[in-house]
Amino acid sequence: MEERGMSREMIEALLQEKKLKDLSYERILSSMCTYPHEIAVYAHGMFLESNLGDSGLFRGTREMEDKVIRMLGALLGNENAFGYLSTGGTESNIQAIRAIRNRKRKEGLSDMNIIVPETAHFSFDKIADLLSINVQKASLDEELRVDVNSVERLINDKTIGIVGIAGTTEFGQIDPIKELSGIAMDRDIFLFVDAAFGGFVIPFLDENYEFDFSLDGVSAISIDPHKMGMSTIPAGCILFREEFYLDELVVSTPYLTTKGQCSLTGTRSGASAAATYAVLKYLGKEGLKTIVDECMRLTRLLVDGAKRIGIPPVIEPVMNVATLSFPESEVGRVVNALEERRWRVSMTRTPKSLRAVIMPHTDEETIKLFLEDLEEVV
Ligand SMILES: *Cc1c(COP(=O)(O)O)cnc(C)c1O
Repeated sequence: MEERGMSREMIEALLQEKKLKDLSYERILSSMCTYPHEIAVYAHGMFLESNLGDSGLFRGTREMEDKVIRMLGALLGNENAFGYLSTGGTESNIQAIRAIRNRKRKEGLSDMNIIVPETAHFSFDKIADLLSINVQKASLDEELRVDVNSVERLINDKTIGIVGIAGTTEFGQIDPIKELSGIAMDRDIFLFVDAAFGGFVIPFLDENYEFDFSLDGVSAISIDPHKMGMSTIPAGCILFREEFYLDELVVSTPYLTTKGQCSLTGTRSGASAAATYAVLKYLGKEGLKTIVDECMRLTRLLVDGAKRIGIPPVIEPVMNVATLSFPESEVGRVVNALEERRWRVSMTRTPKSLRAVIMPHTDEETIKLFLEDLEEVV
């Protein structure tokens, strides 16, 4: 840091310079984030100083958080779910598994394991490390959903939880949560549904998927308002069916206005809680459905266009994620060539493919331009 501060003009110029180095979302097809809705930005600015880590001081913000928990619980089949607004899918995943780990530890269990699909988000690698539990990976079926037989085979007396993904990060596929729920009920095992991305998509699809608290075996769900919920970063949400799971996460907070805290972080953004509240109130289910409908329409447009130029999808799109299949040796070259044309797409691991997430910042013109470049590149 300099000894003396700079003028406001100089700071503004510095910021502008840095801003120009950031990409804008228009040609980004590799991200699950997007521009937050204008009303979310407004609310965020209004509550910038609000700290939910000490929520006794910010009762209005606290009320908004409670309301969001109820709205998201209701969206996911249980208006009376218990939870809090986290920093995102990673924190929610950590906390879900930490809750059941703590509960089982009290019962004297050690060397615990959980079973996740091979497609699980990389945050589960952090979980293995942080919580000292084994993370076993179950294999997939041909449509890249978790194979329930593989899950069953991996269960042993040290298994404390199974994870299903409702909207896989790489392929946008939905695991057979109903079957997993059946297994969870039969074996009395905690079932966590990672719907970080899919939580704001699946309820609005034309096709009906059972994946939420309406299934009795589902104990907890993660859903991210900062992905398809149009809120500001950081906004995640963890929901539990039973309050005692939340209690497993509580530490006492002697010098704050509250007695205890269940979040992983201490100081916690009230701004993004306000942003989430505002945007959900503003859009309602109807507004969210309009957004999902358009993303799905454009996803199909992209996949159909790619088919016409001879590139098949890895799976027919279930959500607004398109994965295009190339010979293994080709994918990297195509992704790089597209990058030279200022597109940002990503690659999936197994099978290797080109991945494009069609977020609300994408429009029809963009898809057309992308398809033209794709055709030239291949
Ligand atoms: C994005 C994502 C996460 C991680 O969420 P962050 O908000 O990036 O921490 C976890 N699980 C799934 C399925 C995701 O798509």
